[in-house]
Amino acid sequence: MPALSLSYHSATALGLNGEPIATTNGNLYKQDSAMSTQLRILIVECMQEVSSFNPVPSLYANFHIAHGTEMLAQEGLNTAIGGALPVLRAADIEPVLAISAQAGSAGLLSSSGWKALSEEILASVSESVKEGVDGVYFSLHGAMGAEGELDPEGYLLQETRCIVGEQIPIVISLDLHGILTDRMLRQVNGFALYHTYPHVDFADTGRRAAQLLVRILTERIRPVIARVVVPALVRGDELITKSGCYGDLIREAQRLERDGTALSAGIMIGNPFTDVPELCTQVLVITDGQEEQAANEAIRLAEEFWALRHRMQGKFISLGRAIAQAKTINGSVVFTDAADATSSGATGDSNIILKGLRESSYSKRVLAQIVDPEAAAMAHQAGVGARIEVMLGGTLDTGRFSPMQITAQVRSLSDGHSRYETMRSGINAGLTAVLEYDNFTVVAMSRTVGLFDRAMYYSNGLNPIDFDLIVVKSPHTEYLMYDAWVEKNFNIDVPGSTSANLPTLGHTICSRPMFPLDEGVTFTPTATLYARTG
Ligand SMILES: [Zn+2]
Repeated sequence: MPALSLSYHSATALGLNGEPIATTNGNLYKQDSAMSTQLRILIVECMQEVSSFNPVPSLYANFHIAHGTEMLAQEGLNTAIGGALPVLRAADIEPVLAISAQAGSAGLLSSSGWKALSEEILASVSESVKEGVDGVYFSLHGAMGAEGELDPEGYLLQETRCIVGEQIPIVISLDLHGILTDRMLRQVNGFALYHTYPHVDFADTGRRAAQLLVRILTERIRPVIARVVVPALVRGDELITKSGCYGDLIREAQRLERDGTALSAGIMIGNPFTDVPELCTQVLVITDGQEEQAANEAIRLAEEFWALRHRMQGKFISLGRAIAQAKTINGSVVFTDAADATSSGATGDSNIILKGLRESSYSKRVLAQIVDPEAAAMAHQAGVGARIEVMLGGTLDTGRFSPMQITAQVRSLSDGHSRYETMRSGINAGLTAVLEYDNFTVVAMSRTVGLFDRAMYYSNGLNPIDFDLIVVKSPHTEYLMYDAWVEKNFNIDVPGSTSANLPTLGHTICSRPMFPLDEGVTFTPTATLYARTG
């Protein structure tokens, strides 16, 4: 049995005697004195997930920025802020809307992009708190990375803490693929984490974060966070929370939340493609002042996770073998190209599966998507019905992919606007064209957008059900989207900046040893505790 090893970190003095710490929060005093003033909670958002192995840097222009009341566009959507707003309204709390910056997954953010983005966010925070706020809800993804700043969220939280002061509670929400760093943990009073993969609980996570913040403001709870770092990176079908063993552990974390043992709990597996110093899996449990209980529960879940690490790895099939099998299958099949998963930070321009199918003379109907601004522009120039000679794909991640020549007919054109099936939030893929050649139908987009659902097919007049083989550039999709009706979903082992074949990627920054990048990794669970007195 591992020893219970605790180390405490606190920005301010932490009472360790088990007594609730009397808060000195002036706003709580205001709350106690007859509720004459409405509480105000600052809402800020910055979300991006990067793949360090994507060679194309992302830019400030990648971000969709909404200021102030423009953020109310999230009301009613399945997003974190969409889930937080009703909680605040129900508690008669005024949301102070600062800024929301969201970007699709991509390569590392350029240093100039990061400078512009961080300055704009922090200026907005400074401006928004001038009339005073009682709390901060910061909606984050957690897997950002920028040139010169490998912990962007930590920087934003540290600076936000400087702006609002030590006494104002800050609660954050995070994707379970995020990397919650020590610097972040020192700034926050609490957090809520996604509990589903594929993700469907965006609004629910925002709701939980807002509820925790409201409780901190209106009850005398004293969040204590236990963090246990597990030196493992995981991938594969066992991470599907509905059916996989990761889901069994998440349900245990949810049980802790529901039965009141924990104020919040979860297991963050990190984005294995975000190569930053604290990339890891981590179990996180927040209790109301119960340090040992938080530590013990986190250690227990971490040990259970560690025991399952071998199961939580990608299982692949070679492209050649998958094609040979697909030829013999009656009914539709999916070729999952997780290595070029745009929602994990890949470029989306891989044509390796398309090339393989052509070279193998696969003759049934194929449907695919690809990011190729030049091909889309050429199709728009030529017009619907035109035949064009075009090089398809391989223009972004040029170290891994190369263009393939096709003669295609332009079947349809669009402006690339759509809406994700789950969140209902907007997609802008830029000029988009549906190209047909031989037995292939390919949606060519100008911009890298998430391809974890069927939105870009539907909005371009295509239904996957009409095809025999569909290429999906996402490791997993919601069950109903494909797995419910296809005969077989092949997880293809091809190169790409988000390959689930993790040892092939070439991590250089994350702490080592790390399973499965290294041999013989051992694990001694240690809980680190964080608490703030504010
Ligand atoms: Zn995620």
